[in-house]
Amino acid sequence: MSEPTGVRLYNTLTGSVETFTPLVEGHAYTYHCGPTVYGFAHIGNLKKYINDDTLRRALRGEGLAVTSVINITDIGHLTSDADDGDDKMTLAIKREGLPLSMESLQTVARKYTDAFISDIQALNILLPEHMPSASEWVPAQIELIERLFARGLAYDTSQTVYFDVAQFPEYGKLGHIDLTGQQEGARIAVDATKRGPHDFALWKKNPEFGFDSPWGKGFPGWHIECSAMAMGLLGETIDIHTGGIDHIPVHHNNEIAQSEGATGKPFARYWMHSEFITIDETKISKSLGNSITLADVHTHGFHPLALRYWVLSGHYRTMMNFSWEALAGAHAALGKLHRAALALAATPSDIAATQFEVYEAMLRAAIRTDLNTASALAALWSALRDTALSDANKRRMIESADRYLGLGLSEALTGISPFGALALETLPPEVIGLVTARSEARAARDFAQSDQLRSAIEQRGYTVIDTPAGTQEVFIQIPE
Ligand code: AMP
Ligand code: ZN
Repeated sequence: MSEPTGVRLYNTLTGSVETFTPLVEGHAYTYHCGPTVYGFAHIGNLKKYINDDTLRRALRGEGLAVTSVINITDIGHLTSDADDGDDKMTLAIKREGLPLSMESLQTVARKYTDAFISDIQALNILLPEHMPSASEWVPAQIELIERLFARGLAYDTSQTVYFDVAQFPEYGKLGHIDLTGQQEGARIAVDATKRGPHDFALWKKNPEFGFDSPWGKGFPGWHIECSAMAMGLLGETIDIHTGGIDHIPVHHNNEIAQSEGATGKPFARYWMHSEFITIDETKISKSLGNSITLADVHTHGFHPLALRYWVLSGHYRTMMNFSWEALAGAHAALGKLHRAALALAATPSDIAATQFEVYEAMLRAAIRTDLNTASALAALWSALRDTALSDANKRRMIESADRYLGLGLSEALTGISPFGALALETLPPEVIGLVTARSEARAARDFAQSDQLRSAIEQRGYTVIDTPAGTQEVFIQIPE
């Protein structure tokens, strides 16, 4: 066994906070259940990848090499995480008016995979080492199903190949799922060929459409892709597996059953689950029309990193309620951090800067305590507000904090920031006129006039900051 790290994480498998110790010295292997690419990701989906990114940054901060997978589900996911409902990708193909074919499936998958990658990049989420698509891993999934047959854990019916839960007595151990309490088939007729109510699909037959397999044409079940890709890319026992809390009862218990059933070895040593967000105290749902995307965040005048800041201001295991007011607050706070970093951009950083170590210790302690990003942000704010701390120390603190938080502040230290002051010529002409008039009023020491002009500028959605050099800097204001 290798050296323990300083990171303590809540492990859903044991129900306690544990010190993370990688299986292989100096290296962590993490698997993050990825998107089903049948539509644009909403902010609830994206929150989970920000939480995952915090984990990976925390592990890197311990000096570990990290190899991570975020899978792309482009086949096999039904509208219910259990085996009922329609296939999500098929629904998307129909919605987009395309014929039902493998080409259409690829077209839809490509469109939403690209959108997902651009979303996570805008959120400063470090790209994982691997982003495999389920459709490219069908042979590995078939092989895994064959291993399950060989161990007496799978059976074939006319429509479906199932995992035989009765043959895996530990089923439901993640989150201590009470199997007796779960009633299946309330909405959708139960398949009569199923031996047990918790048996789940490994392969769904479809004579018209799908991949060839020993059990006929069709698609792998959703769960088997994660087992096949996680073990294929990271090894049979991985360090940390993550997902949303909704994955605990079905998807992750199924992954465990398939993987441990096939190998006889532990699958994931630590399980990390992110809580959901609500919007205006309501759950996110397409039918309520409240599934806000990153494009909507942009349209409302907020930077994507404001969403990241908002997520980091809470804890990954605590339910958070999103509102546009809350996002405006995050946008404003992040804008202030960027302005602080921009103001430090001209300060040399090569002075011996030891004072910052107290704040850096606070920061690291926060991250190590089950990824307490809110406390990490507080440590950064305290350092920046400390008038006794030199600018060089503040710079070091910003650099250090940004490795964990990924808020673009290191770039701001070089003088480049999306929250930077706007060039005058990029402003609307009437705002240019007001800013110019305000410069003249200030030069004439007509402060009443200058204040009036400030209000007029603010009414048009901009904020003015007077620099110590006597010039004005104009920023986009936080919208209502
Ligand atoms: P879906 O595309 O609806 O299947 O969602 C994909 C995953 O995103 C879910 O399995 C959850 O883990 C996560 N997710 C969905 N809704 C939310 C939410 N409101 N808050 C946080 N995570 C969510
Ligand atoms: Zn998964």
